[in-house]
Amino acid sequence: MPFFARFERENWKTMSNTEGLEAAADAIGKAGDLALACHVGPDGDALGSMLGLGIAAQNAGKTVRASFGSPFVMPPNLGFLPSDLLVPPGDFPAAPDLMVVLDAGSPDRLGELAANASKAATVVVLDHHITNEGFGTISVVDATAAATGELVFDLLGLLDWPITPDVANCLHTALVTDTGRFLYSNTTQRTLQIAAVLVGAGASPTQIGSHVYERSPFGYLKVAAAALSRAELDVDARFVSTIVTQADLTAAGIDWGDIDNLIDTLRLAEEADVATLAKVQADGRVRVSMRSRGDTDVGSLAAAMGGGGHRLASGFTAEGDAAVVIRQIREAIEEYR
Ligand code: 5GP
Ligand code: MN
Repeated sequence: MPFFARFERENWKTMSNTEGLEAAADAIGKAGDLALACHVGPDGDALGSMLGLGIAAQNAGKTVRASFGSPFVMPPNLGFLPSDLLVPPGDFPAAPDLMVVLDAGSPDRLGELAANASKAATVVVLDHHITNEGFGTISVVDATAAATGELVFDLLGLLDWPITPDVANCLHTALVTDTGRFLYSNTTQRTLQIAAVLVGAGASPTQIGSHVYERSPFGYLKVAAAALSRAELDVDARFVSTIVTQADLTAAGIDWGDIDNLIDTLRLAEEADVATLAKVQADGRVRVSMRSRGDTDVGSLAAAMGGGGHRLASGFTAEGDAAVVIRQIREAIEEYR
């Protein structure tokens, strides 16, 4: 038997599904209309897992609408994903029969679509954030999954819905982005096995890589240079941080979605365990992204600040002065080591 025959989809069914996933598959399989939502400011896992499920559902004859809360702007580096199913949040069903929420650890991560979720007859939650609050009618939260895309892969196996090349490309994007190209500690043997199946089903690592990692508008270089030149290192606290403002972006003619990878450069500072990027938005609110090399549980730290995420990658939104927010984080990190 060829080596990869062991990884055919039939085998997955016995490998990792939980009762929750079976209940989710049952509800989704029976539904005629599906309303899908992912977290605001969607990343590759949020959009990839949502669109992958949506396209597979549409192929299975379902009527599908997918959306995310304002600002309803497709991240430019994910513009290659097939987005025909996307509708603005205003066109999302007000009270869906079945709403599937992907990659969101709490209802507030849905922005204005939290109101739709609260009126939905059934809410299925598919997520992998350790800080997930356990909301929804059917909640499938697996913090050992590297990406929500892994859960969707399992779900499609249970539903026996085919993984077409479009579905495969969406789910592979989810895996690639949430694992930092299969390098972060959340990458498991199973992640790579799923990736192998997705590539076999038509996902294109080259296309994903070239869009997500190998291009940015020129203005990104200017914003990155400015932000990195202002970066501060606290050697004792093993903490590196910087601030980006709406004015920086406006001057360079780029949007927030263009700087999603900036934290990956900031975190290179080897003296730091924790890297923090504070993004001061047009409304003055501060979106904070945190990353740890391993010694600090930034997921719990973010949860304490009203956000959430994973042990080594997390975020939250704060009111007030960005420099003050950064100081609060630096003063708190010792507790999370
Ligand atoms: P990023 O820094 O890339 O925006 O987010 C890193 C991780 O933390 C992602 O898994 C993201 O979903 C999670 N995260 C970021 N911001 C928030 C937040 O405000 N609340 C929660 N619950 N999770 C967040
Ligand atoms: Mn994710």
